[in-house]
Amino acid sequence: MRVLITGAAGFLGSHLADRFLRDGHAVVGLDNFVTGSPDNIAHLMGNTAFEFLHHNISNFTYVAGALDGVLHFASPASPIDYLEHPIPTLKVGALGTHNALGIAKAKQARFFLASTSEVYGDPLVHPQPESYWGNVNPIGPRGVYDEAKRFAEALTMAYHRFHGLDTRIVRIFNTYGPRMRPRDGRVVSNFIVQALTGAPITIYGDGTQTRSFCYVDDEVEGIYQLFQRGDAMPVNIGNPVEFTVRGLADLVVELTGSASAIVHKPLPEDDPKVRQPDITRARQVLGWEPRVPVREGLARTIAHFRATLGAGARA
Ligand code: UDP
Repeated sequence: MRVLITGAAGFLGSHLADRFLRDGHAVVGLDNFVTGSPDNIAHLMGNTAFEFLHHNISNFTYVAGALDGVLHFASPASPIDYLEHPIPTLKVGALGTHNALGIAKAKQARFFLASTSEVYGDPLVHPQPESYWGNVNPIGPRGVYDEAKRFAEALTMAYHRFHGLDTRIVRIFNTYGPRMRPRDGRVVSNFIVQALTGAPITIYGDGTQTRSFCYVDDEVEGIYQLFQRGDAMPVNIGNPVEFTVRGLADLVVELTGSASAIVHKPLPEDDPKVRQPDITRARQVLGWEPRVPVREGLARTIAHFRATLGAGARA
């Protein structure tokens, strides 16, 4: 196969490129480096099965040659990133998805949308099955991401129903692991970097809000399986083991042996109070479930940050 991955220099996009290449497929990676980094794909340069296009998928995009798949992973995904880039976030979910769908249709390729647990907003159903329609504030600060992804899902289903395009939608829950940017603002990277540098660990609010954290290798394997074997209806891919943010902070302190103090900061507006994927569908359709326990995944991620932070990291 030859597949196009938008956002290929991002955290998930780069791991996904690795996964396709590992099975002998060819990858065209596209990224404009708004939040992605050349470092994430540096190891692929010189690989004849990998081509790179430095381009913004929200603008008209031409890709030469045949494609079997188009996987649309380009988007800021950390709350602080999409607050900093609200309009590019809306554009890549809307115009970027339209362009990526257009490429898939022209090439008669399978289309795969990276959607998100954010489509459930601050959920009133817990855990969240794919059948839940969500509780999203369209005009709040997170609306730029949530509504862009909800529109992207609607557009993908329209291409599926109207044009008969072969499509997939994954709803990705909180994912962590090597290649997260140390300062991308997300809770796992923040806590680890704070713990390793001796900085205070910043819990937003009282820390009773929950998230469920999936190690990147598990997430990417679920995505890869869904691309090949799923159907058009959305599938949650995430790890259902749920933590309070306070519980995560305690675990990071334990695993790093850090002396960092814990401090509280204001809870961001519309921060979801709970989040846990119902992965019944992923188990049934794909036979997939996560394998890496959170302790082990965190230990691997801590080792990665220790190495990349270098001399700046204590402990
Ligand atoms: N959070 C926190 N401290 C931080 C960063 C995040 O307490 O330094 C909280 C945040 O308020 C949210 C959770 O951790 O409740 C997960 O935040 P993240 O930015 O990772 O992504 P989200 O799941 O909200 O999209």
